[in-house]
Amino acid sequence: NLSDKLEKALHILKGHGKITEVNVADTLKEVRRALLDADVNFKIAKDFTTSVKEKAMGQNVLTSLQPGQLMVKLVKDELTELMGGEEVGINLSGNPSVILMSGLQGSGKTTFSGKLANFLKTKKGKKPLLVACDIYRPAAINQLHVVGDQIGVEVYSEPENKNAVDIAQNAIKYAKSNGFNVVIVDTAGRLAIDEQMMNEIANVHKAIQPQETLFVVDAMTGQDAVNTAKAFNDRLNFDGVILTKLDGDTRGGAAITIKSVVNKPIKFIGTGEKMEAIDVFYPSRMADRILGMGDVVSLVERAQEQYDEEEARKLQKKIAKNEFGFDDFLTQIQQIKKMGNMKDLVGMIPGAGKALKDVEIEDDAFKHIEAIIHSMTPLERTKPAVIDGKRKIRIAKGSGTKVEQVNQLMKQFDQMSKMMKMMQGGGGKNLARMMGG
Ligand code: GDP
Ligand code: MG
Repeated sequence: NLSDKLEKALHILKGHGKITEVNVADTLKEVRRALLDADVNFKIAKDFTTSVKEKAMGQNVLTSLQPGQLMVKLVKDELTELMGGEEVGINLSGNPSVILMSGLQGSGKTTFSGKLANFLKTKKGKKPLLVACDIYRPAAINQLHVVGDQIGVEVYSEPENKNAVDIAQNAIKYAKSNGFNVVIVDTAGRLAIDEQMMNEIANVHKAIQPQETLFVVDAMTGQDAVNTAKAFNDRLNFDGVILTKLDGDTRGGAAITIKSVVNKPIKFIGTGEKMEAIDVFYPSRMADRILGMGDVVSLVERAQEQYDEEEARKLQKKIAKNEFGFDDFLTQIQQIKKMGNMKDLVGMIPGAGKALKDVEIEDDAFKHIEAIIHSMTPLERTKPAVIDGKRKIRIAKGSGTKVEQVNQLMKQFDQMSKMMKMMQGGGGKNLARMMGG
């Protein structure tokens, strides 16, 4: 994937104290190839590397003290810029604020409508109304109702009405007289761009004059996503892009290209099927993620929502002092369980994608883990190094598990401690310092 390739490309430079012009050129060639492989538009990839090269020469990369780090920073900054620089929020100035979803069928409009409603309700204290304007399939209306029930948000629908403009207008009236301050209009999509769909959404758009028209696109569709974005933008002049299905390892090519092609900001990303799998799009974090550094800031932020701050601080100290033990591991697991999908989270930790690729992460695996840890003595929990073969047998017996399971847990624990250390010190810290953070 893109991250791996870029990482490889940048690896050439990272390790080297000395750097040559050939080195820079080689690296940028690799970077360009990685971008192209990730479906980044050819011209954009070319402009990108040209620009980085010029900057590298301008900043005397070759004679700087840490040329590799400077190059990484240049690539990162340029990527960030390419994806819009700063994050852009959504406009909630209307009363009610009307948000219109557009995009192809299957892009994730209905799911994202629910996620956004949930986000605005729980994080911004809004009272949203979801509107079912996908009038062609009865199943679509049901789907939105299911989503609405899940998050406790009312859904407005008129199953008998076949006029999307009508429904949208009625919904806004309904919202006004019932105290809703955000109206999220979910619409129908087709499998490919077609005139009827475009006309319908354009008519809805014209009739309800939304504060925000959002274009929802599946990040996995690569270069096609860009063409679709163009077609929708020509017709709707939308305000922002939602990139869905950016879970785990999805390549970020679409994120890199879309902004520069339609010149509209990416506002949110979807990172899973659950209602909580929504994140504000931060270009610099996305650049980090693409560069394989992991989206540490997002991870920490999401963690903080659930963590007791005090707890987090204690943990940081422990990791720094190399005192991270099984009790902490247990607490971590409990926190992770609260935070949502394990794979999502692990994907955000630098290097974790690789470290844990072969380790099966199952939610009910936690049951055994908890049992095993509960069978450990306090000493074993704080100093896992003392756990020898004999102790393992005792622990397995006590927890009703097998020695292999104890071994597996020890391995997982080891990997987790390593990751934590990486996030704290080593690469992560140096990187943060280098990035001026
Ligand atoms: P719509 O046709 O545009 O309304 O798309 P849906 O919201 O019905 O989503 C289509 C499929 O994509 C569903 O199976 C969703 O669960 C799934 N989906 C939506 N967003 C995401 C996401 O961010 N990650 C993943 N993995 N799946 C998603
Ligand atoms: Mg839908």
